[in-house]
Amino acid sequence: ILRDYVKASAKESDMILKTSTITLKVPQDCNGAVLVKNLYLSCDPYMRTRMSFLQGSYGDSFTPALPLQGYGVARVLDSSHPNFKKGDLVWGMTAWEEYTIITSTERLFKVQHMDVPLSYYTGILGMPGATAYVGFYEICSPKQGETVFISAASGAVGQLVGQFAKLSGCYVVGSAGSKHKVDLLKNKFGFDDAFNYKEEPDFNAALKRYFPNGIDIYFDNVGGKMLDAVLLNMRLHGRISACGMISQYDVQELEGVKNLFNVVTKRIRMEGFLVPDYYHLYPKFLDTVLTLIKEGKITYLEDIAEGLESAPSALIGLFSGRNIGKQVVVVSRE
Ligand code: NDP
Repeated sequence: ILRDYVKASAKESDMILKTSTITLKVPQDCNGAVLVKNLYLSCDPYMRTRMSFLQGSYGDSFTPALPLQGYGVARVLDSSHPNFKKGDLVWGMTAWEEYTIITSTERLFKVQHMDVPLSYYTGILGMPGATAYVGFYEICSPKQGETVFISAASGAVGQLVGQFAKLSGCYVVGSAGSKHKVDLLKNKFGFDDAFNYKEEPDFNAALKRYFPNGIDIYFDNVGGKMLDAVLLNMRLHGRISACGMISQYDVQELEGVKNLFNVVTKRIRMEGFLVPDYYHLYPKFLDTVLTLIKEGKITYLEDIAEGLESAPSALIGLFSGRNIGKQVVVVSRE
């Protein structure tokens, strides 16, 4: 439960755990609602913006004294909705609690394929996977041989973008915040190269080293100083997928980008997107990525936290890079 709107950096104590008793039935006056048992919850960076009053551009602010909302995987226990029945497994918008009555089902989808781990629907087969797919293929229009740079590259979205880019025949470099993550990028996810941005005080110099001829595609997960340095190193007609700006979510003063004029002079196409606008592409995405998983052509790393009580720490950990791969919270395995 969100204690109150967060004004400074978010802390675990901004969230409290509470126990209450509910009847495990959809109330009679909730037509079209489903009661679910939450199994896996997704920790997503945009949730931080919703913890503050009116800062959220990724959706309305959460309501203090109520549970946080977020993506998850759940089992339907009771339903007054014609499309969902008891026993169905679903993924989509739920709340950070053991049981949730979901009244708005427009972002609730049935799990169709059970031959992969269910937790994948919080990540590679869910919202972050669709984000990587849409943000790379739809926004960046990649071509074989192009150079691609990805920030926060070992996370839920970044690890997949890097692999999509390699499958598209691109030269791919990622940045991440530790040596371990850099090793993962190079040795597990198949990036051509990677660097630890925390050990590179001059991002511009680092990018010049990895991209002596410039960057065609930047998949921006972090914004701020890294975006500014990338602008200096973009090639003519480059594309920037403005996916997220995690370096700016938990700060009081937003960082100004000084090198924006490069967008004009280099005719860069920089496009922001929100993945729910593209959920009509979900079936195509699912088909593509499930096939890649089954053929062993894509790999995926999760960071699993056990129990609802671990959720606040797991969420806060995103902002110091404590997660290694997609951060998931297991509420229940059955
Ligand atoms: P990740 O799994 O990548 O976790 C967040 C990571 O961000 C951390 O592990 C950390 O890695 C890095 N990070 C944290 N603070 C900073 C900082 N100050 N500077 C640089 N890196 C930082 O998260 P996701 O893959 O789920 O999300 C990645 C981005 O995609 C976010 O910006 C998110 O908001 C955005 N997004 C956008 C969507 C859309 O529809 N547009 C949908 C989903 C996600 P490290 O150790 O490398 O620093």
